Amino acid sequence: MIIYYSLLAFIIGCILGSFSNVCIYRLPLNKQFITGRSYCPKCKKKIIWYDNLPLISYINLNGKCRNCKKKISFNYFLVELISGFCALYIFLNYNNFYEIIFLQLLVVIFLIIYFIDLKHFIIPDILNLSFIALAFFKNFIPDFESSFTYDLNNSIIGGVIGYLIIWSIIFSYKKLKNIEAMGLGDAKLMAGVGLLFGWYSVFVVLFISAILGLIFSLPDLIKNTKNLKTKIPFGPFIIISTIIYYFYGSFIIKLILL
Ligand SMILES: [Zn+2]
Repeated sequence: MIIYYSLLAFIIGCILGSFSNVCIYRLPLNKQFITGRSYCPKCKKKIIWYDNLPLISYINLNGKCRNCKKKISFNYFLVELISGFCALYIFLNYNNFYEIIFLQLLVVIFLIIYFIDLKHFIIPDILNLSFIALAFFKNFIPDFESSFTYDLNNSIIGGVIGYLIIWSIIFSYKKLKNIEAMGLGDAKLMAGVGLLFGWYSVFVVLFISAILGLIFSLPDLIKNTKNLKTKIPFGPFIIISTIIYYFYGSFIIKLILL
């Protein structure tokens, strides 16, 4: 029986991934994102339902639009696959129904933010505000097995510190060097992280993000194709660091306190 339920969880995850793809494509363009049929971004032709099945259609169409034969971004496939595997992982590892829904919602929000910020260097407010609301709401649903904080004060202070720390980085860089170091979108994202895990998480997550950011920009810095002023999206690093913190946060804090 468990194999059928697992398959079902995977399929639901893929469908949510498909919905995430619609948001990733349409949110930055300010298009109506829930309503309206799917269409090819290149030739604008409406996509027939059997060409719109998560994972399967991409393989079936060999990654090309049926009408205009232009390439469909591999990211569509990737997002559906990641979402599917996350749903499967969550289903197999958690028992609390509310927690399963909560974590899958987080996966969807994180996926959308990750891919939008990567391409457009923005995080739409609706995503950050949904994340913040969800992270705050978690304080009132007990019995999660996850590494979130359940101390309401710690959560709220975490949210405020998360926002202020990025805000002060933005402010001081602007004053001192006239550089837009980060965006307020990053500040709101960090507010959500603080609300989820408490105030100390803000520093650890930011620290890991900075290291990841440096590692990823190092090859370009060495080749001199970019300099330190080149804009890189910071949201994806915050998201990867948050996931690392979710799994290894207590271990990392122990290491720091040694
Ligand atoms: Zn097309």
